[in-house]
Amino acid sequence: MAEWGIKGYLFENWAQTYKCIPELYFTPKTKEDVIQILEQARAGGKTVRAVGGARSPSDICCTDGYMIDMQRMDSVIDVCAEKCQITVEGGVMLTKLNRILEENGMAISVLGAISDITLAGAMATGTHGSGAQYGVLASYVVKLELLTASGEVMTLSREKDEDMFRAAAVSLGALGIILTVTLQCEKAFKLCKTSFTTTMDDVLENLEVHVRSSEHFRFMWIPYTGHVIATHANRTDKKIAVHSSWFWETLVGYHMLEFMLWISTYFTSMVPYIARFMYNILWRHGGEMVDTSYKVFNFNCLFKQYVNEWSIPRSQAVLVLLELQEWILAQEHRLQVHFPIEVRFVKADDLLLSPCSEIDSCYINIIMFRPYGRDTPHQEYWDKYESIMKRAGGRPHWAKAHRETASDLRKMYPHFEQFCNIRSSLDPHGLFLNNYLKRILEYK
Ligand SMILES: Cc1cc2nc3c(=O)[nH]c(=O)nc-3n(C[C@H](O)[C@H](O)[C@H](O)COP(=O)(O)OP(=O)(O)OC[C@H]3O[C@@H](n4cnc5c(N)ncnc54)[C@H](O)[C@@H]3O)c2cc1C
Repeated sequence: MAEWGIKGYLFENWAQTYKCIPELYFTPKTKEDVIQILEQARAGGKTVRAVGGARSPSDICCTDGYMIDMQRMDSVIDVCAEKCQITVEGGVMLTKLNRILEENGMAISVLGAISDITLAGAMATGTHGSGAQYGVLASYVVKLELLTASGEVMTLSREKDEDMFRAAAVSLGALGIILTVTLQCEKAFKLCKTSFTTTMDDVLENLEVHVRSSEHFRFMWIPYTGHVIATHANRTDKKIAVHSSWFWETLVGYHMLEFMLWISTYFTSMVPYIARFMYNILWRHGGEMVDTSYKVFNFNCLFKQYVNEWSIPRSQAVLVLLELQEWILAQEHRLQVHFPIEVRFVKADDLLLSPCSEIDSCYINIIMFRPYGRDTPHQEYWDKYESIMKRAGGRPHWAKAHRETASDLRKMYPHFEQFCNIRSSLDPHGLFLNNYLKRILEYK
């Protein structure tokens, strides 16, 4: 087995903000391969980390032990049209899954911004989209197969070992390797998306009206303009109608923005002017589009960036956004922040480590782009944002670079202790631990 485990492989996440050289890097194709890798790791006293699409903007995947890239384990095992369920290997990319579901007249109920992530990777970090009646992706899982540290394959569902299932659905890769997943889908559907600009004041004054008035509401706040781009999406039977905005999105949205932000790394006071310019020439022109669900859920996240995202109870959203807005404006002549700030809404669930565990949530995603890979200082912004979110009862997105440790997380998550106990019982010797997990689980 060690013959095909690669030595010296440089692992880097998508944003190129974290890297590591695992002792051995594996790309298994079958369950038997993975079982063998775990056996070898146990025998040699090594640790093991699974990786999917490497999209997480943090050190969550990093390891100096064995790294198992799950992307070749992406087969479809079963499609059940009657129950509208699909069973696939955990390494399947959502891009592939969306296509296969479409071919079978089915679709995932809600998605985040991108689909070039694996199903198991998205579940593990509590990946979410937006919609007050829609939970994190992991809340649509009905069954999964987990390969544990002892080499046992556990089949978990709500009917069979519910507590373990609620732990394994959002598990940060800490409980074992997710081999297969059965996902509750629904009949394929189209969405009609309407985007329009409005003021930040309007959206905050009428937030609950916005949130409740469509299936999928989110907004992009453009600091320094006082405006947001609000997006509502609802199911529709209308014909597919897509704008041809490729030229503007590519040339202006991507290249011009990256170039201007690159210049602003030398002249930071330009940032508010760039925000106003982009808003006025490109983003303020809303519109309507109708397309297949996943094509509407996904959107262009432009180029590499630092990101920080926490969820807060939805009831706190207005106060938090007002405080953040006041702070950003007060700093305008000293410290400038990038745009847009994305605000989304997600339904409560009962998964032990879901950031929406037992609470209807609002996610606020802040970014600092890295134009042409250049560093953009962000620590002071991150510190302020985190202190506001924390005070409002926030929880960090597991995939994103946060600095919380077990002592903080214990207070944030009602079932944190239960998760830690399950983890210790499944993996007493810490086969799946890396520095990220040691930090958040306080494992010595
Ligand atoms: C441009 C961009 C846009 C994004 N948009 C959103 C968004 O809209 N909403 C949102 O919530 N997040 C978003 N994210 C974050 C992203 O959804 C998460 O980082 C997600 O976990 C990435 O999936 P991945 O397959 O790349 O997982 P990785 O980053 O490779 O891994 C994430 C975790 O999953 C574990 N893992 C992977 N495979 C397995 C397996 N088979 N068994 C057990 N554990 C496993 C890893 O050990 C790790 O803990 C975005 C990220 C980027 C870069």
